[in-house]
Amino acid sequence: ADKGVVEWKYAACGYCSTGCSIEVGLNAEGKPVTSRGVADADVNRGKLCLKGIFEHELFTSAGRGTEPLMREQWHQDWQPATWDSALDKVHDEIVRIQAKYGRDSVAIISTGQMLTEEFYTLGKLTRGLIGTNNYDGNTTLCMASAVSGYKRSFGSDGPPGCYEDFEHTDCLFAWGSNLPEQHPIIYWRMKEAQEKRGFPLIVVDPRVTMLAQNAHIHLAITPGTDVVLMNAMMHVIFAEKLEDSSYIETNTNGIDMLRAEVAKYDPVTASKICGIDEDTIRVVARLYAKAGAAMAIWTMGINQSTHGSDGVVGINNLALITGNIGKPGGTSLSITGQCNAMGTREWSSCSGLPNYRALENPDHRAEIADFWGIDPEFFPKKRGMFQTDIYHAIESGQIKGLWLIATNPLSSLPNSARVRKAMESLEFCAVQDCYHDTESAQYAHVYLPAGTWAEKDGVMTNTERRISVVKPVTPPPGQAQPDLWIFNRMAERFNQSGKVNFPEKAADIFLEMGKLSVGRLADISGMNHELLEKQRGIQWPYTQEQVKNGEAPPKGGKRLYTVDGTFSYADGKAKLIPLPFIDNNEVPDEKFPIWLNTGRLIEHWHGRTKTGKIGNNNKYSPIPFIEINPDLAAELNIERGEYVRLVSRRSDAVVMAMPTQRVPKNMVFLPFHFHDCANRLTLGLLDPHSRQPAYKQSAVRIERI
Ligand code: SF4
Repeated sequence: ADKGVVEWKYAACGYCSTGCSIEVGLNAEGKPVTSRGVADADVNRGKLCLKGIFEHELFTSAGRGTEPLMREQWHQDWQPATWDSALDKVHDEIVRIQAKYGRDSVAIISTGQMLTEEFYTLGKLTRGLIGTNNYDGNTTLCMASAVSGYKRSFGSDGPPGCYEDFEHTDCLFAWGSNLPEQHPIIYWRMKEAQEKRGFPLIVVDPRVTMLAQNAHIHLAITPGTDVVLMNAMMHVIFAEKLEDSSYIETNTNGIDMLRAEVAKYDPVTASKICGIDEDTIRVVARLYAKAGAAMAIWTMGINQSTHGSDGVVGINNLALITGNIGKPGGTSLSITGQCNAMGTREWSSCSGLPNYRALENPDHRAEIADFWGIDPEFFPKKRGMFQTDIYHAIESGQIKGLWLIATNPLSSLPNSARVRKAMESLEFCAVQDCYHDTESAQYAHVYLPAGTWAEKDGVMTNTERRISVVKPVTPPPGQAQPDLWIFNRMAERFNQSGKVNFPEKAADIFLEMGKLSVGRLADISGMNHELLEKQRGIQWPYTQEQVKNGEAPPKGGKRLYTVDGTFSYADGKAKLIPLPFIDNNEVPDEKFPIWLNTGRLIEHWHGRTKTGKIGNNNKYSPIPFIEINPDLAAELNIERGEYVRLVSRRSDAVVMAMPTQRVPKNMVFLPFHFHDCANRLTLGLLDPHSRQPAYKQSAVRIERI
């Protein structure tokens, strides 16, 4: 009230995947002046973190794009353009390049930060009309290992658990997840439940993170060796007969091969690889297996690794052999990254076709082609390149044109010097973003100004499969337009016969998606925008059948699988998959003796495109710094606040040194948010299943300046 608020408008938060409900306060001139949490929302119950509290400042932050821009060469000055000329140029260049070099010579890379109806529409445009198979999201950098691991274990993507599981668990394992900084409101839910129930918290992380400071047991593991610890825990569980034999028999396949593999990982042998002493391995294995219900969560510490997909399968293996999947408080829950990483997984068609359908499946191709009104032969028969491989294909000349949507690869991909060279070699690049000043826009020939977060209408899915609606709080600035509008105008140019239908309204697109979801795992056919806003979010599945039967939308938290199995493989059983460990990371050596660990800070979001421009976020860490162990700092004669040079085999970066006991003596931690910094150094070897980069396992040396 003291800010002159006359109206509150509802939206789900557009930063992380927690899915908090926000209301933005508007003053008498209709200007957004404040934000607050929504008290009756299941997820955040009135609370917000630092980013959510200042989210309304996004609308007027510096660098917002307000008009389309064009230029002939990327190194020339921008010229203002009309929407028609800019969209025609993008269309004509895509057509020209495809005609000259083939359909797949154009790549489209999207994001986890648009709204789901936008993802669905872009997927229809890309798969149904443009027809390139080199279409991916920046979610390959954050969640691809979780997707891959869920598919391998359960037969489909889709997190089995929910936040309410914290309120039922008897033991919580956090693998490479620092909730207080990365997902503060999930942390608050967890902490509140822990204070009531007193369950043990075991944190696996090479660094003493904020979550590790709160742990009963902190396992400071050697980077990249989580799978060894998981195998050793399973070794102990089988040796001491702590497994749930009846669950394994009823719900899984593959137990014999798993037993044979983990037999090689006795705690003594494993201890030498993963750095956790043998007795502690036994203690945590017993704590996990003997708990009535045991839960595991993870984030980038598992996903961003050459063993990311295996790490997820290992977590699932542990949950399955102890009968935890489906039990309240027993789950394997991937804490997702971006606000709508889940929406893109479900509906963008990046890795396949809508709602977890596969390009490899002829029935799925036929079903979607029929629904969209196109020839099924137009679809490729297997998925194309991942984002991380697309840049290598640009380097080799296989890909000549690129359309980037709400993503900034020059900041976010590993080994940025190599990415820069690739971008320079493109024949054509279009950047669609709400900011015109991103590093990747330097290499664009056309810039399309997009609306941000609550300047648009649509839905997002959070970590626990809860779909929430976002309503426009204010219109986009100047001539900027919602991404949905841009996709629909582009579709008109590729769809001149008008044979494919592209609805204009997000609420209508949602109903179309609902029809495509009937009988699928992510069935949303019982939902619509109005109901979603009223309920402050609903978890999928919620089906038209449930509506017919008079069942109200679920409140609280629902699990995806039951204790009786019903996994997505044809026989309904989950797979137990043996995980032999091969050490394939870049590791410290004489020339580069220090581990480089990268990660996030609470006040910033990804490449700081947004939070770097919000004073109340940026003031807490405006410049790049490293955490360095005080003993190492003393050995190298480095003072607190001194600038030092980090050098890797790729390049170097200058950062401020901040001595702290949070990191061991053989490691530095560098927040990845700062442009032209962490990713100048990272090597980013890729996981063989998910193609996700190993951002957290590179080797550097430190030089005084
Ligand atoms: Fe937004 Fe995540 Fe913070 Fe919630 S925890 S307010 S979703 S950034």
